Amino acid sequence: MNVPLLDLKAQYDQILPKIRIEIDKVLESHRYILGPQVKEFEEDMQKYCEVRHAVGCASGTDALVLALKALQIQEDDEVITTTFTFFATAGAISRVGAKPIFVDIKPDTFNIDPKQIENAITPKTKAIIVVHLFGQPAEMDTIMEIAQKNKLKVIEDNAQGIGAKFNGKVAGSIGDIGTLSFFPSKNLGAMGDAGMCLTNSDELAARLIQLRVHGENPQYFHKWVGLNSRLDTIQASVLKVKLPYLESWSDARRKNAQYYFSKLNDVSQIKTPFIHEKATSIYNQFTLLAEDRDELLKYLRNKNIGCAVYYPKPLHIQECFSKLGYKKGDLPIAEEISQKVISIPIYSEITKEQQDYVIENIKEYYSN
Ligand SMILES: *Cc1c(COP(=O)(O)O)cnc(C)c1O
Repeated sequence: MNVPLLDLKAQYDQILPKIRIEIDKVLESHRYILGPQVKEFEEDMQKYCEVRHAVGCASGTDALVLALKALQIQEDDEVITTTFTFFATAGAISRVGAKPIFVDIKPDTFNIDPKQIENAITPKTKAIIVVHLFGQPAEMDTIMEIAQKNKLKVIEDNAQGIGAKFNGKVAGSIGDIGTLSFFPSKNLGAMGDAGMCLTNSDELAARLIQLRVHGENPQYFHKWVGLNSRLDTIQASVLKVKLPYLESWSDARRKNAQYYFSKLNDVSQIKTPFIHEKATSIYNQFTLLAEDRDELLKYLRNKNIGCAVYYPKPLHIQECFSKLGYKKGDLPIAEEISQKVISIPIYSEITKEQQDYVIENIKEYYSN
């Protein structure tokens, strides 16, 4: 048997004919940049994410840069974020000239620890970037309280959590700006790069719309230095076809997660994901804490089971951030967890037989 970490072919099998029709419409209209499908998809996303404005852009990384620029984060400002995330979260902070301040995570949810945020606030702190890691929202109630008390802006990096909820609120709609990625491996993936910013603020939306076209308004008059970062019309047409399926795909992932819980909770050498009582997860990843992680990884890969380590090295000790002066041991929880995490296949189309094969092999590894 073969169980990939993600099976895009299985996902597209049912919908490719519909997508071809929509792509064809774009090709025939020749409206490649900000064609009508972009606005249509943005409107669909406003409804899905229960937010006033959705502004498409070229990637989840650009969405973060645009969000920081719209919030006027600049040189010498400090932005607090988690050390345990995909690189782009912190890369975006550096890209606008600001300083990432890394804090540690909660050992159970792997999300940013609100207490650590409070301890890291200085007079230079302007914003917090929260990440909803692996599809589970961080503790947004506490984080918003801290932000309001200290007059800080909040960006939700929701690249991995589209459609997830915290306390009944849609992830990405709670802070000042939420960002999304439509990288092919996210729960809603494009056929290339694409991203989006979400906000309830009319003023921030107007800025984001300007910033994605070089900060211009009207044309050739520039108030800010922006980016060239539009959501491609072809990608918007693909995403528009896929969005109506998203809820059922995320439901399938939740069902697959329940199955893993029922079969893996009694394996003492691993710990299955912990979901906060106020959170729902969309399980972009199903990430275990495992004894002998590296050996297990090798073993499963040898059995044709796709698995991955998200993430093997926290950001505060990455070479590119050495100037910030962090050292090993500064953020011990993330450092320890990065040595133990392993993500196993959870995609919507995985079959029960494939899941059984994964479960059997994990158990077999530890019984030897
Ligand atoms: C995928 C991802 C991004 C970046 O998105 P791209 O579309 O690949 O630029 C940012 N943050 C997190 C947490 C991600 O998982």
